[in-house]
Amino acid sequence: MAKRLILMGPPGGGKGTQAKRIQERYGIPQLSTGDMLRAAVSAGTPIGKQAKTVMDAGKLVSDEIMVGLIAERIDQADCATGFILDGFPRTIPQAEALDKLLKSKGIKLDSVIEVQVPDEKLVTRITGRFTCKACGEGYHDTFKTPKKAGVCDVCGGAEFSRRADDNAETVKARLAAYHAQTAPLLPYYEGQGLLKVVDGDRDMSVVTADLEAILGR
Ligand code: ADP
Ligand code: ADP
Ligand code: ZN
Repeated sequence: MAKRLILMGPPGGGKGTQAKRIQERYGIPQLSTGDMLRAAVSAGTPIGKQAKTVMDAGKLVSDEIMVGLIAERIDQADCATGFILDGFPRTIPQAEALDKLLKSKGIKLDSVIEVQVPDEKLVTRITGRFTCKACGEGYHDTFKTPKKAGVCDVCGGAEFSRRADDNAETVKARLAAYHAQTAPLLPYYEGQGLLKVVDGDRDMSVVTADLEAILGR
């Protein structure tokens, strides 16, 4: 059965961590709009140039750009049996555009899962986050350190990176954007009967087990 889902939640809530695990387990791709934008920034494309200033300020990139990126990505062959949207939609107009897009393809979302984490935990989550440069595996200074210091558990890589926007000041703006622009999507999907809630303020593997219980075998 196809699985088409949205992982919602605040910045640092654990969406990326969990999306990678669901991708492994169910063989459906993680579509992270943040990763797509960061790739565009590194490649220096016109979209990347426009997005960089907005991302550094902790604000949201325009709906037009985001809907275009997702429309193109969902058309690719690996999305035929499902996908995990991580970081999209983030505004009501994005959600409406997604509904239209899926409808035009004759497909439907199966679930929208909100990973709930209280605001006061998110600053620590975000400022401690780092990633393997080679394979993208996510780590945390306190909550998930590599087994051998300085070496990626997954690929053996020794280079890590931290996001430019993962600093205490920008986090405030990102949280404000989440509450003002993204949180209204929760009642939107609740109204469609799609919303499920998971307590994300627990050990990563406990959160994963809850998600797997929702998604089934
Ligand atoms: P998001 O994609 O929602 O921004 P991430 O998955 O990147 O969040 O997680 C943010 C940071 O918090 C990462 O450093 C990650 O290792 C860590 N993290 C993720 N889930 C948990 C958890 N359940 N408990 C503690 N730390 C977590
Ligand atoms: P986080 O892991 O903290 O949730 P993301 O990696 O998903 O952050 O996104 C990083 C930044 O990229 C956001 O702060 C925003 O500027 C931009 N961005 C990502 N997805 C979207 C979207 N759907 N709409 C608007 N801006 C987005
Ligand atoms: Zn690695």
